[in-house]
Amino acid sequence: MTDCIFCKIAAGEIPANAVYEDGEMLCFKDIRPAAPVHLLLIPKTHFDSLAHAAPEHEGLLGRMMLKVPQIAAEHGLTGGFKTLVNTGKGGGQEVFHLHIHIMGTPA
Ligand code: 5GP
Ligand code: ZN
Repeated sequence: MTDCIFCKIAAGEIPANAVYEDGEMLCFKDIRPAAPVHLLLIPKTHFDSLAHAAPEHEGLLGRMMLKVPQIAAEHGLTGGFKTLVNTGKGGGQEVFHLHIHIMGTPA
């Protein structure tokens, strides 16, 4: 059992508004949106943060970064978008399962 809320979302144990899913990553709407479009992209495998990423995560992180603009475009963010990865308490991280915020206003 894990207490990680994003692992529970990835496992379907806690509902989320998923907008993209494949075998290794999941994207869903942030529960407290800070922008008209505010999505979170997570790996299905747990690691706490970028500071905990290991060489074995290199390909996964690359594929996630390449997925970001595709998801952003699908949500109308054709004029641009912000990405944010908070790392550690000092970096404002609140949920300790790596996630990429994707935020913006549809063009
Ligand atoms: P952090 O500060 O760790 O970078 O961001 C965590 C984000 O997760 C916050 O923007 C917060 O609103 C979001 N969040 C926390 N709990 C949940 C949840 O149960 N469901 C969803 N969809 N988002 C969550
Ligand atoms: Zn987790």
